[in-house]
Amino acid sequence: MTSAKRETKYVFVTGGVSSSLGKGLTAASLGRLLKLRGLKVTMGKLDPYLNVDPGTMNPGEHGEVFVTDDGGETDLDLGHYERFIDEPLTKLSNTTTGAVYSSVIAKERKGEYLGKTVQVIPHITNEIKERISRLGAQGADVVIIEIGGTVGDIEIIPFIESIRQFRHQVGKENVCYTHLTLVPFLGGSKEHKSKPTQHSVAELRSMGIQPDVIVCRSDQQVSHDMKHKISMFCDVATSAVISAIDAGSLYDIPLLLHEEGLDAIVCETLGIDLDEYPIDLALWEKVSQQAHSASKPIRIGLVGKYVTMPDAYLSVYESILHAGFGSGCRIEVQQIDAELVPSTFSAEFLDQLDGIIIPGGFGERGIEGMIEAARIARERGIPTLGICLGMQVMVIETARNQISMTDANSTEFNSSTPFPVIDLMSDQVNVTDKGGTMRLGAYPAMLEAGSIVSGLYDAPVVSERHRHRYEFNSRFKDQFEAVGMVCSGLSPDGRLVEFVELNNHPYFVGTQAHPEFKSRPDRPHPLFSGLVAASIKRSDARENRIFNIDTLQAGS
Ligand code: GLN
Repeated sequence: MTSAKRETKYVFVTGGVSSSLGKGLTAASLGRLLKLRGLKVTMGKLDPYLNVDPGTMNPGEHGEVFVTDDGGETDLDLGHYERFIDEPLTKLSNTTTGAVYSSVIAKERKGEYLGKTVQVIPHITNEIKERISRLGAQGADVVIIEIGGTVGDIEIIPFIESIRQFRHQVGKENVCYTHLTLVPFLGGSKEHKSKPTQHSVAELRSMGIQPDVIVCRSDQQVSHDMKHKISMFCDVATSAVISAIDAGSLYDIPLLLHEEGLDAIVCETLGIDLDEYPIDLALWEKVSQQAHSASKPIRIGLVGKYVTMPDAYLSVYESILHAGFGSGCRIEVQQIDAELVPSTFSAEFLDQLDGIIIPGGFGERGIEGMIEAARIARERGIPTLGICLGMQVMVIETARNQISMTDANSTEFNSSTPFPVIDLMSDQVNVTDKGGTMRLGAYPAMLEAGSIVSGLYDAPVVSERHRHRYEFNSRFKDQFEAVGMVCSGLSPDGRLVEFVELNNHPYFVGTQAHPEFKSRPDRPHPLFSGLVAASIKRSDARENRIFNIDTLQAGS
């Protein structure tokens, strides 16, 4: 028996008191819990900044740009959403103030407002509501929308007003407002303090939103008495005050929030029958257990330029961890500042690592250090995965040191190099606009039978997400293949090189794409699994070597 198609439900997640409380992870965890109840979930984020999208923002400041299949350059929280709910998202899932204003202003210029005065209310708020509705029209049972920023920020006001009006539009039985706050524990008085939460809820109410659920971030469990107090002052049921303590692993958060009853109270608010949608936690219990169970350390070096901002490589970092889940090993990622290779991070230092990743990036800073790291990794047999810029670096290194193309380079870094082994695609020459001018989003690639990558993917055709302007220059393909660098994956028309690998190395694989966007905690990406498997082998071999020397010495 199929139940009648229900109306789409909306959960809006706001944040109060402080930024960086983990709103994205809370929203994503709720998404996973609802999915574990058998509901179809999608997610989105409203960001209050003026950039049209995060594509032009410095990852050293803002963190990575997460790329969707349809080529959206989006906020890194969408990465959390995809990793947790395991549903592909699109450009529709990330709206910024800049995007809203630019589309309203474009409509005004076209005369679409018929001579009316164009204002924040109703024109900006209508545009925001329309974008929320478009996401809701995709067929999900529940749409979870995170509002970036903190309640009280000037920039957030049009979004708050829009979600207030939205409930009026779709009916209060279809909307759940969830507010995330900080409940600090004061060491001096040894107690939790509810005042910041009260203030932030008062602020939200002054804008017409009464939260249905309050999630309290805290480093220690919030007591029942404290929940009761928050419930009294903020006018929510005690069962709707959820304690969210710091978790050992990100992947524990859904389970902790479920124990606190978050998904149950959200369903109750939305009129979703818990008996009709019982939860099955098994899959996530396994993920969470695997995130903890390993003990043997495997050290993987990440050679990049944004080492002071780990969020710049967030999806790469998570993908490495996923690949370690279930391997019996605990992956330790060592951030290596590319500018300090080989001065601080010498060949001997890199040789101690079990594996290396050279991630994506733009601009010249750190490039020579990455090329040097690639040389050391190639010569010493260190398993290495090159991602986008990382693949380009592998190609430049091989050209310079294996094919004697001295000064080989990418034209991104040296436009007059005699050996432009990485070059602009013809259709990208003369592009001056910095936003959305790259090869973006999912593209297919055909893999060469018998190659390392085709063995790992176990498929002849794969699809990966891209974000770059430059490409391997196919003019030099034969010279690379002659020294063992195989072009093991090509675009279907054979024009673009999507994968390279060395056929005389344990694992030296480069991809022009960004595989990190498709790794999931219960489905690690094959290229990362390949790197981790090769790294474990290297670590085992090293241990055996040390062991043999020890026994030799003991026996002598
Ligand atoms: N800067 C390089 C390009 O534009 C690589 C980009 C990346 O690593 N995402 O092609």
